[in-house]
Amino acid sequence: MSVLVFVEGFNGEIKKSSLEAATYGYQVAQQLGTTATAVAIGEVHEDALAKLGEQGISKVLYDADSRLNNFVADAYVKVIAKAAQQENAKVLVFSNSNIGAAVGAKLAVRLNGSLATNVTTLPKTDGGFIVTRSVFSGKAFAEVNLTSDVKIIAVKKNALEIANAGSGAATVEKFSADLTDADFAAAPKETIMQDTSGGVLLTEAEIVVSGGRGLKGPENWHLVEDLAKALGAATACSKPVADLDWRPHHEHVGQTGIAVSPNLYIAIGISGAIQHLAGVNSSKVIVVINKDPEAPFFKAADYGIVGDAFDVVPKLIEAARALDK
Ligand SMILES: Cc1cc2nc3c(=O)[nH]c(=O)nc-3n(C[C@H](O)[C@H](O)[C@H](O)COP(=O)(O)OP(=O)(O)OC[C@H]3O[C@@H](n4cnc5c(N)ncnc54)[C@H](O)[C@@H]3O)c2cc1C
Repeated sequence: MSVLVFVEGFNGEIKKSSLEAATYGYQVAQQLGTTATAVAIGEVHEDALAKLGEQGISKVLYDADSRLNNFVADAYVKVIAKAAQQENAKVLVFSNSNIGAAVGAKLAVRLNGSLATNVTTLPKTDGGFIVTRSVFSGKAFAEVNLTSDVKIIAVKKNALEIANAGSGAATVEKFSADLTDADFAAAPKETIMQDTSGGVLLTEAEIVVSGGRGLKGPENWHLVEDLAKALGAATACSKPVADLDWRPHHEHVGQTGIAVSPNLYIAIGISGAIQHLAGVNSSKVIVVINKDPEAPFFKAADYGIVGDAFDVVPKLIEAARALDK
C-alpha cells in the first residue's frame, strides 16, 4: 500500500500548490508507515521532478506523452488510475486546483473511492480517516470521515507549508498508460488556459494586487501593474471591472471568478462585496486601500489604508521599488 500524489507543472516547473500536495502526501505516508510516489503528466522538467525528493517523494512516474500537455480529463484519469493500480495506492493526493478537483472527482467514481476537497489538515487515523475541509467559501470547517478503501484528497492551496524532508533526489521513471486517440477524442474541449500576468500564475501567486471600480478606468491600471511588478505579484480585479472590459475575465476573482489564496492580497478601490470576499478571504494577509472608511472590505482586512488610491498607490510603488534596490 502506498500514497500517490498527482503533481502539476507550469512552464516546466512543479506548481507551488503541487509541492504542497507532495508535502501532504509524504506526511500521510509517514503516518501510515509507507512511501509516497508522485505521478506527473506532460511538459515538466525531469530535474524538477527529481527535486520532489526534497518533499519526501521517493519515486516519480512520469508520462511525457505530448498529447497530455493540455489538460484532457479522461486521459489524465486513465494515467493516474493506472499509476494508482501499479503502486497499490490507497490514498491519492491532489492540489485543490481546477485540474486536481476535476480529476479527483472522476477518479473517485472510477476507483469507487471517497473524495474530500479543500482539505486543510492531515488525517486523524485513530478509528477512521478524518480530515478537515474548508467549506462555505472559507467561512466554516467540516470534518469528514473517508470510509472507502481508496481515499482521494484535494489539498486546499496555501493551507500548509511546503516542507523540506531533505531526503535527496526522487527517482524518475518513464510511465505510459498506452493512451489511444479515443482517450483524447472523448473530451476535445477540456483544455485549461494557463493565463499569467507578468509571468505569475494568478492561482499560484504568493502576492496578488487587485483593482476595482474605484480606479475609474483601464487607463489607470498602470498603478496595479506597476505595484504588482515591484512586488513580483499577479494582477487581479473585481467582477465589474472585467464586465466593463477594463481587464480580461481571467483576472476576475470572487464567487463567480477565480478563488485565490495568496500570502498577501492587496485590494485597491474594491468595496469588498460578499461575492468578492468569497474568492479572496482565504488569503493569509489582506491589505485594503479605499477612500471610504465605511467600505465593507475593511472588516475583512488585516491592514487598511483609508485614502485616495491615486495618492496612496504611487507611494507604495516607490517604497516597493526602493526595497528591491
Ligand atoms: C451573483 C453575483 C455574483 C457576483 N460575483 C462576483 C465576483 O465573483 N467577484 C466580484 O468582485 N464581484 C462579484 N459580484 C459583484 C459584487 O456584488 C460587487 O458589485 C462588486 O464586487 C463591486 O466591485 P467593486 O468593488 O470593484 O466596485 P464598487 O462596488 O463600485 O466599489 C468601488 C470602491 O472603490 C472605492 N473608491 C472609489 N474611488 C476610490 C479612490 N479614488 N481611491 C480608493 N478607493 C476608491 C469606493 O469607496 C468603493 O468602495 C457578484 C454579484 C452577484 C449578484
